[in-house]
Order: sequence, then structure tokens, then C-alpha cells
Amino acid sequence: MSGEHVAERPEVPAARRPPGYGPCVLLKHGEIFLKGRNRHLFTQRLQDNLRIALRGVGGSTWIKTAQNVTVLGGQVPREVLVERARRVVGFNTVEPAVRVPSEQDEITRAAVDAVRTALAGRPAATFAVRVKRRDKGFPVTSFRMAGHLGARVREAVPALRVDLTAPELTLTVEIDRKETYLSCERLPGLSGLPVGSSGRALVLLSGGYDSPVAAHRAMRRGLACDFVHFTGAPYTNPASVYKAYALARELNRYQPPGDLHVIALGKAQKQLAVAGAGRLQVVAQRRLMVRTASALAATTGADALVTGDSLGQVASQTLANLAAVDEAATLPLLRPLIGWEKQEIIDEARTLGTADISVLPDEDCCTLLAPPRVSTRAGLPPLHAVERRLDLEELVGTLLAGAQVMRPGDGAVVPAGAGDAAPASGPRVPTA
Ligand code: ATP
Ligand code: MG
Repeated sequence: MSGEHVAERPEVPAARRPPGYGPCVLLKHGEIFLKGRNRHLFTQRLQDNLRIALRGVGGSTWIKTAQNVTVLGGQVPREVLVERARRVVGFNTVEPAVRVPSEQDEITRAAVDAVRTALAGRPAATFAVRVKRRDKGFPVTSFRMAGHLGARVREAVPALRVDLTAPELTLTVEIDRKETYLSCERLPGLSGLPVGSSGRALVLLSGGYDSPVAAHRAMRRGLACDFVHFTGAPYTNPASVYKAYALARELNRYQPPGDLHVIALGKAQKQLAVAGAGRLQVVAQRRLMVRTASALAATTGADALVTGDSLGQVASQTLANLAAVDEAATLPLLRPLIGWEKQEIIDEARTLGTADISVLPDEDCCTLLAPPRVSTRAGLPPLHAVERRLDLEELVGTLLAGAQVMRPGDGAVVPAGAGDAAPASGPRVPTA
């Protein structure tokens, strides 16, 4: 038998399971461990975000928190709960589990059942039982309980061998005062800090691969994100808006949904060209974008801007040009991807689900009026000279007044503090 994989069918049908016995999901908290006296605020935020992520799940759910773990269950298939929980930033691991009363017989029965269920889905030849006794009042030590459960599992599935160093199947048993959780699978969560715990940011979202990945990285450091997209309208078609909308909707699945602001930049781009921007055109446009975004941020409550820049990736992203853009921002300009390779960014975009949208063709406003050769060392004095020929304050005001705001992925929900701050101009577009 040795070396052969064992596959099993679960023996106890759900209907005959004793009361109190049921599927649930164990969520282990990530970095909020480190947050000392503020930890309860982080935990609260994490749970609020989980609750929002569970909206529309199609059945009632419950959430319970012990010290560094959240337990999630309800009248919803466990896979659905797992899928939603894996999109909530701040959980290190997501474990499909079962919950039983903390009594030795119940735990034993559930352990055998859990191993059989696991083997039915994923055959294995070796196993180990790991027991954590969070409640020291439980009469049997973790060590002895692990030995006991291991022996019962072997009786039930004799072909399965014990391997404590590199088991193919690990049954984890966590004993609390009243309830015990058993699981055979540990999926990685999104880790990071709960979205919102670091404040709000405004992401400059283009249709490319980079800015959605940058937004996601910002969320993982606790920033709740709204989005602003600049189009070349009226000189370009609306394809880039549809892309930005689809990207924001995808990103909103990882956070309490943020707003997307769409601003038509085409006429202003033309004014920069007429003012003689020449080889500085792209950097001048980028400066106008961050200037406008900085003003918009005052209405969305953002304390920082986020872009998808990566050092040296294209001519507009040399150190000199990035510095020239910084100078036009009145808020910290965060660039989470500054040291990333393009391939790393694309790989991450695939994992997130934004790559399939980014790859679609559009008419990017940045290529509109772009000079044949972009300056790689845009100096500030010539940029200032171009900008002096325009009334920048009025221009930014006009751009903001024409902004449209929508909330991709969530037509009904207005998270606390965000909705009231949205600019009055432009329709709130109801969404699918
Ligand atoms: P991306 O893949 O995000 O489009 P990119 O490699 O095409 O980035 P650039 O076009 O130089 O790089 O843009 C750099 C950053 O400037 C983008 O990541 C984004 O944050 C911002 N940006 C560029 N164009 C727009 C736009 N039309 N609307 C909003 N932000 C933009
Ligand atoms: Mg781009």
C-alpha cells in the first residue's frame, strides 16, 4: 500500500450530523496583530469590510471574532463564503472548516469525517493532526489529543500513514472553550492592512495594466480608493471610459466600493499644445492631471494620490519627469509600482482579474497630441512658462465642473463619509 494515494467518500450525511455541527470559514488576521492598542479598531474595520464583501451573497451569514481569528458561516455554500473572504484585505489565511462543540466525542467524529471529506476531493497517502488548544480548560492536552485523533483516523482509514514532517494532508484542530474548528485546507488570503485603516486615496486610473495594479497595492496597505480617469473627449471615442469603469468595478470587489470620476481632458490638452508645450506635452498633461486630481481629492476626502508609474518604464517616467509631475501635486503622490518590472505588473494584473480588461484596445488620451519624441528631462522653468500662458485655476475649475461620477459595481451602497462628499455636478450612474 505504501506510496499509494487514498481516496475516500464522507460517511456522515449532513442530515444526520449532530446539532451545532456545521461548515464555516476560519479567517486568520494578518498584520493587525502588530497594531498594539489600536488593534480593536483594525479588527472592527476588517469585519466591517467583510460584512460589505458579503452583500448580495444570497443568504444570511454570521461573523464571530475570537482573538486573532474571525469565523464566518451562514445559509450560503461554504465555497461562496471562501471566495468572498479571499477578496477582503487583511486576512492571512482562509480555511474552509467545520465547527463542533468542544467535546471529545464530537471532535473525534468530526476529525474522521473531515479527513474522509478531504480525501474524497484530494487523495493523499500521508497525514498529520495538529491540535491547538486555545482553551486550556479542555481536559486533554494538545499533544495527547493529536495522538488520539491520529489513531482514530488511522482506524477509519487504515491505508493512510502518519508523517509529521511533510504530510500530504494536515488536519488542524483548534479547540476553543465552547467550539472546536477542524480544517484540512489553508488558502492564502490577501494579507495587508484592512482597507480604510490608512485613510483614503485617489487613484489616477488609465486603461493600462499598471494603474489598476497600483490601486490594488494601495488598498493592501489600507487605503480606501476612489478613482479618476481622464479621457481625450471630445477628440477620442468613449472606449477608455468603458475600460476604466470595468477596471474600477473589478477593483471595487476588493474594497467597500469607491467612486469613479471621469474628466474630459481633450480641450485642455489642445490648449497646452497651443501654448507651445511641444516636447513637454506629455509631462505638461500629466501635471494638469495631478493638479486636477489634487483639487478633486479635496472633495473625496483623499489624503494622497496614487499612480501606476514605474521608474524608467517609458520616456514620461524618467526621474526628472516624475519629479516635474510631483511638483504640480498638492498631495503626496504615491507610486506603489516604482520598482516593479513590466512583466511582474502584468502577472499581478492577471491574478487580480484586471489584465483581461487592460488588454482591450482604446484611444488613450496621452497619445492624443503626443509629440514624436517625448522629452526625458522636462525642466521646470519651460513647463512653468507654458502653464503661465493658461489660466490654470480656471481650467481646473472647468474640468472639475464637467466631471461625471459613478460607483462601479455598487449602485445602492454609499459607504460612510464618501457619498456626501461627491461633487454635485454630473449624474450618479446606476450600475449593474
Ligand atoms: P498604465 O498602464 O497605468 O496606463 P502606463 O505604463 O501606460 O500606465 P503612463 O501612460 O505613462 O504609463 O501613465 C503613468 C500613470 O499616469 C498611469 O499609471 C496612471 O496612474 C496615470 N495616467 C496616465 N494616463 C491616465 C489617464 N488617462 N487617466 C488617469 N490617469 C492616467
Ligand atoms: Mg497608460
